[in-house]
Amino acid sequence: MEINEYLKLFRKQLFYPRLKEETQLSEFFISVTGSNGISFSEIYSTTIYPEFVQIEGERFMLWDNHFWDLYERFLLGFILAKSPKVDYSVIFEYINAISFLFLTNRFDSVPCLSYIFARHYAGTGFAVPPYNKFEATPNRDKLITAGYHKTLISGKLYVFFHEVIHSLIKIDSSIFDDDREDIIRFCAELIDNNIDGQVRETALEIIQGKDEGLIEEICCDLRAITESIRLLHKSSAEGADKKQTLMDFIMDIRYLLTFHGSMLQIEGAWQANRRGIDEFGAEFILHAEDQITQQNVVINKANSRVNLVLYLAFRLHGYTDFNSDDFIDAEWFSKFIVPSLEFVRSSDLMKKIFEDYLNLKPRYSAVEFRTSKNMLVITAATLNGAGRGG
Ligand SMILES: [Zn+2]
Repeated sequence: MEINEYLKLFRKQLFYPRLKEETQLSEFFISVTGSNGISFSEIYSTTIYPEFVQIEGERFMLWDNHFWDLYERFLLGFILAKSPKVDYSVIFEYINAISFLFLTNRFDSVPCLSYIFARHYAGTGFAVPPYNKFEATPNRDKLITAGYHKTLISGKLYVFFHEVIHSLIKIDSSIFDDDREDIIRFCAELIDNNIDGQVRETALEIIQGKDEGLIEEICCDLRAITESIRLLHKSSAEGADKKQTLMDFIMDIRYLLTFHGSMLQIEGAWQANRRGIDEFGAEFILHAEDQITQQNVVINKANSRVNLVLYLAFRLHGYTDFNSDDFIDAEWFSKFIVPSLEFVRSSDLMKKIFEDYLNLKPRYSAVEFRTSKNMLVITAATLNGAGRGG
């Protein structure tokens, strides 16, 4: 199988993507991947996430600009929230719009549900320009003006290096033996210091070595942080403080981790329920609340992994005074993000949407919508309409 065939089978791409990577960054990504024997390929697909793929000995990094398109919008929401004139309800709708747009794409293999999400997205009044219309990067310009361009770049470097390191581990996992030893040592130290709660449980899991996947993820995270700050420190002013570079970087990627974590939460909640609906039918809707409780356990675990990684990054660079409270704009998060996240995965909304889903499903399954071309037409049609309305 060739890469084009892979893309055709597994990715639904838009012909005229709304966003392309900045030239300077894409040149940097091409050179780093190239020197590691990996082809770098920019795409814009409904999958949204970047991916490392290996096909018949050839390795590719698929860089999905759709993810960055949504993330730029999310960061803009932060800037919007900082403005004293903006009403709370505006931010609420704005974040909802991003969440529904995300769900519309992520559920495109379930056309009927995707369509309902698209309608909710359109209803927020924050519809972005239609897909297949190239935007002359006004979002990025706004981020630059507001002083958040570096936040965006830091996030990209972090994700990029994380993926490259996954690909290197796949070839030879032994090159990370030293990292692993450090990680285990620092986790033991954390436990000796009597840290409690979920972070302790994650640290214990690592020491017990039960979850190889978790250890690999943490290795990739830590190396990505090290590589990124090495690069950022090199390009910063002479005499810049190394610790400050690390602290600034952690602050920057906190936004990315919040965005990514939020989207994972929303999707996880909807996936769990969708499977239940397909298996058990309408009565499953009644259990939406239980599902959310279960999801919260998963979310707490993911959050504690983030905190553990940031602690370890501090420790690896020789600092001992990590405090997670230094790195989160708690007010912004609790006031603007949390209400929207709770709404988009609330049992009330789920019940409402799943009722629509069960009503519409027979109509939708009567037609063959599962081919990528038709699906994009449906989604694009809905979104085009939204664009005009908004
Ligand atoms: Zn990973």
